[in-house]
Amino acid sequence: MTDLARRVAAGERAALARAITLVESRRPERRREGSDLVQALIERTGKAIRVGITGVPGVGKSTLIDALGMRLIEEGHRVAVLAIDPSSTRTGGAILGDKTRMTHLATADAAFIRPSPSAGSLGGVAARTREAMLLTEAAGFDVVIVETVGVGQSETAVAEMVDTFVALMLPGAGDELQGIKKGLLERADIIAVNKADGANVHAARRAAAELLSAVKILASETTPTILTLSAATGDRLDALWTAILAHRDGLAADGRLDARRREQGVTWMRDMVRDGLEDYLAAHAGAARAEAETAVREGRLAPSLAARSILDLLP
Ligand code: GDP
Repeated sequence: MTDLARRVAAGERAALARAITLVESRRPERRREGSDLVQALIERTGKAIRVGITGVPGVGKSTLIDALGMRLIEEGHRVAVLAIDPSSTRTGGAILGDKTRMTHLATADAAFIRPSPSAGSLGGVAARTREAMLLTEAAGFDVVIVETVGVGQSETAVAEMVDTFVALMLPGAGDELQGIKKGLLERADIIAVNKADGANVHAARRAAAELLSAVKILASETTPTILTLSAATGDRLDALWTAILAHRDGLAADGRLDARRREQGVTWMRDMVRDGLEDYLAAHAGAARAEAETAVREGRLAPSLAARSILDLLP
């Protein structure tokens, strides 16, 4: 084991941060170092409870993660928060995983917060976040929360890397139907209507009831658990955590947790192959690709032929 691997395994946060910087690097040789590091630590990975949290901006993700994370730390857990936000470089808005959004966790010794990798395709961002997840596990974090924004593709990416996927909803009108449109109801293991406090309590309960009937109509194999909570007051946070553990225990009881993770591993590998091909082409065939794209755009070249001309450049 290298010195860096040993220090990550010892839970040194500076080492962990450096290790994640390696796997996030845009430079292939540094990333290879990062992969070697993950490999050296592989036996220490996989022990965390992996939770995904999604929801539109403003739904209360950071408030929830801050409150839940602190509660888990009080119970003796060590909590890592990662984020997948493919749009962070474009929007420049509130960046997911930004430490200032989780003020309590940001200063807690037993927490580790890492903002979303800020460059690259969604596939690339997701691949880097997965490796970061493995590294945080190797460093002894036993709860990993991956947050994302409520848009289709990044939700799929997060759902594919966690054990339990939680969708946060607002008690407002229309939100529940929006969820149905996006297929989110089928993907979520738990749907939590947030801000069920003060004047919102009734609206939140109504939203939960509507979600429940929507879910029943869908009648898919597994129906998500639906609950209301308030991240701000902390009310029913425990119900959410209980539901997360119950879901995970259900998976573990009949071997589905292992099966799910093994399948996820294969999906990760495929994504990384695709990602590596992209990197290779960007480095070795950038000009040819740009030319081919122009030719396709101008209708001079059939897309299939253009693709073939690029693939022929692979060694
Ligand atoms: P994010 O964009 O999903 O991370 O949402 P934030 O956690 O930043 O919350 C957005 C706003 O909603 C902030 O002003 C929070 O104080 C507020 N908020 C979050 N959770 C609750 C809640 O449970 N109840 C109420 N009333 N407000 C909340």
